[in-house]
Amino acid sequence: MAATLDREPSISAFLDGRPKRHLINGEWVASSSGATYETINPSTGESLAVLAECTVEDVDRAVAAARAAFEGRWSTFSPAERQNVLLRFADLVWDAYAELRVLDALDAGVPIGHDPTLGREFMVEVLRYYAGWATKLHGQAIRPALPNPCFAYTVKEPVGVVASIFPWNAPHSFALWKLAPALATGCTIVLKPAEEGSLSPLRMCELIQELDLPPGVVNILTGTGSTAGVALTEHPGVDKISFTGSTATGQAIVRASAGNLKRVTLELGGKSPDIVFADAKLDDAVLGTGMSIFWNAGQVCCAGSRTFVERAIYDEFVERLTILANTVKVGDSSHPDTVVGPLISHRQLDRVTGYLERGRAEGARTLAGGARLTDGALGNGYFVSPTVFVDVRDDMEIACEEIFGPVASILPFDTMDEVARRANLTEYGLRSGIWTSDIGKAHKLARLLRTGVVWVNTYGQFDPAVPFGGYKMSGLGHELGEASLDDYLNVKSVWINTE
Ligand code: NAD
Repeated sequence: MAATLDREPSISAFLDGRPKRHLINGEWVASSSGATYETINPSTGESLAVLAECTVEDVDRAVAAARAAFEGRWSTFSPAERQNVLLRFADLVWDAYAELRVLDALDAGVPIGHDPTLGREFMVEVLRYYAGWATKLHGQAIRPALPNPCFAYTVKEPVGVVASIFPWNAPHSFALWKLAPALATGCTIVLKPAEEGSLSPLRMCELIQELDLPPGVVNILTGTGSTAGVALTEHPGVDKISFTGSTATGQAIVRASAGNLKRVTLELGGKSPDIVFADAKLDDAVLGTGMSIFWNAGQVCCAGSRTFVERAIYDEFVERLTILANTVKVGDSSHPDTVVGPLISHRQLDRVTGYLERGRAEGARTLAGGARLTDGALGNGYFVSPTVFVDVRDDMEIACEEIFGPVASILPFDTMDEVARRANLTEYGLRSGIWTSDIGKAHKLARLLRTGVVWVNTYGQFDPAVPFGGYKMSGLGHELGEASLDDYLNVKSVWINTE
């Protein structure tokens, strides 16, 4: 199965061996320098495709095209026309969804058979949800508070040219989450996917070409963060950056975007606590916490990488999670049974194994995994076995830093106040999980946790209508929901003298 996926007719038509190009101003074009780079399948180490490597000049051309489209015919599209664009796009994504999943499995190592979100239904519904918003972006009629001969109203207007930069761990999802609100609000967009996860966003842009939008409404550039990403964040022609990625890059983007005070939204890293009380349904809690850190080899921003377990059930929980770690299916991400795929690259492999070594050196004990997998075909890819650490202290590096690998640290606790304090002992504030049969306890702890999302007796739920953001160093602004729209809109106040 795995070896044949790239020979499926639609995939082999896309991966036809010809270099992939940028989409700029409605045309597929090579890099201005002619430079290309290769992307590989992280499950096998084999070459997959050659892509155009973006230059600063390519960025200038894409931003100019997006600006011209923003000021041109796209600005005359009515809200209902933008709604229909998104609805037609949703239908195309519905039909092509399996291809997007295969490309993410081959290119970015995202397991094809296990999708903790609703997959196709969820992704297509994101487009339909924002299609609905296109006709509902209303301002307000305001009677001024002070004695005043005037009447005022507000209108919401698109911010302009948006550059969307995102990582490789869920490429087609990020592209969709960023395209949908941008198009609903009337912005134009330049997509910059990660070097290691550009194929599904490129395929998505082929679908967008079928919509016959004015050229330049949607552009895509492939290449490095250090050239394409930096040029976009510094560019005076970009009005907003929508970024998903690491906290360090998010900080660099805030600094680089100061030149024209771009609107910046950031979805960043995490070190999310997943908290299991003794009264939890243990089967659910073990599976939920385990999948939150092992699925996609832990390369998930929301990964529950610190599992706090009430002392009364600590030993039993550890035993059960260790069994799960030892039995969960690790393998080629194109195989339908795989839950834990490869790490994205050799660099990421070195990073994760470095954390494993330093964790042991600091005194943590490994009960499962803890090493690179080199058996048979797995040795050609970048696999690390699902790992369970115990004897972890809150101040150890493995308990403080985002590893982005399948590495669980299990820490005992005694009281709710104690676990709330320890869960918040991190610079991050992305997600948290609570497992308990006592709903009052869940509400109380949910209030105490300083994270943008709290999941109770579940982990990793998403919905187009529910906002998704981070506290502290985990982000600024939101994806999904009504909340994300404000970041794509300016509010203009108009005063009318009624005398
Ligand atoms: P990264 O920050 O290195 O790269 C992300 C994107 O930014 C890539 O497209 C890259 O080319 C680009 N980039 C790199 N340097 C840049 C720069 N100086 N200026 C502009 N663009 C630049 O992230 P990564 O390590 O590839 O991805 C993993 C990180 O992403 C983890 O920290 C993870 O938690 C985070 N993430 C967050 C969310 C969320 O929703 N909060 C979702 C997924 C991943």
